[in-house]
Amino acid sequence: MNLTFYPGPSQLYPQVEGYLQDAYSSGILSMNHRSTAFMDMMAQTIAGLHEKLNIPLDYEVYFTSSATECWEIISQSLVEKSSLHAFNGAFGAKWFEYAQRLHPAFGHEFEFNTLLDVEASEHFAKSELLCLTHNETSNGTALSYQSLKHTRKNFAGLIAVDATSSMAGVVLPWEMGDVWFASVQKCFGLPPGLGVLIVSPRAIEKAKAIGERNHYNSLLFVRDNFQKNQTPYTPNTLAIYLLGRVMQQVPPIELVDDEIVKRAEDLYAFFHDEGFEVLVDKPSVRSHTVMALRGAEGWINALREKALENGVLLGKGYGTWKNTSLRIANFPALTDSDLSRLKKIMESQNPA
Ligand SMILES: *Cc1c(COP(=O)(O)O)cnc(C)c1O
Repeated sequence: MNLTFYPGPSQLYPQVEGYLQDAYSSGILSMNHRSTAFMDMMAQTIAGLHEKLNIPLDYEVYFTSSATECWEIISQSLVEKSSLHAFNGAFGAKWFEYAQRLHPAFGHEFEFNTLLDVEASEHFAKSELLCLTHNETSNGTALSYQSLKHTRKNFAGLIAVDATSSMAGVVLPWEMGDVWFASVQKCFGLPPGLGVLIVSPRAIEKAKAIGERNHYNSLLFVRDNFQKNQTPYTPNTLAIYLLGRVMQQVPPIELVDDEIVKRAEDLYAFFHDEGFEVLVDKPSVRSHTVMALRGAEGWINALREKALENGVLLGKGYGTWKNTSLRIANFPALTDSDLSRLKKIMESQNPA
């Protein structure tokens, strides 16, 4: 296997091989995480994220071990009474489930072929925290800019957005959320083992008002450390270094977004022309970074098998559609020629 379309862990940027070597020879991997060398390196990585992803300067960036840890940090440090979760797939559902273990939480499940309609929830008006999944990796849907904007306008509390499979792939409307987070093994084209947590001034105010400091990863304690360019625990120095290098390498997110959207449109047109069935019928809710196709189990297995024979890994289905769908990542580390290779394989296994 030398090419993967799995939506995480995903295809790495080919430059990562050299960065790994550089990390080793630079000596940074043996540096104490309170040393100047480490603190400077981490500050550069964070500056690179602000610059390339166009994150507002007053939104603070922290590192965690994963997106899953971010779910927990949000529950611990930003919820006084309860949270409200709107979701249409397995990742949003899992977040809701984890939150319920820590405090009361309300779920608003919506059909994945419809737009976000969380105002319909009886809890909408009085909720302190709304949890959204920007890109539902399990079924290939994404929340539109209009949906986020509309929700922001009408919701009084904080909004937390899981953007694990879209951050660094498409432009995110940062002001429409107070907490955004992702893991680097999706659109960042990096190996797994690091989460990125981004918080607005409003989220920090709320964390201060709650004052929760009971955990090693309490938001305020994480913040105290990051304000000194340090981390609460010995961090994944290699991953932070690699992320910094990738941020130097990538173009500004507007340009990445143009490319990803263009490629997604091309792929969806290809699926349509060739008779492949996209899991999501409604074009306006389809993701640009993760695509899901629906089909009979036999055909899906045959296509995955055929791809493997050609050194290409396709993503399995997830959750409800585990056996009757397959998923294809359209992440920035993949190239046009990778996509041509995918199309050739798919053409030979046309379901029609
Ligand atoms: C992959 C993914 C996660 C989990 O990421 P981890 O790195 O395993 O914590 C959470 N949410 C979404 C939307 C994802 O795609």
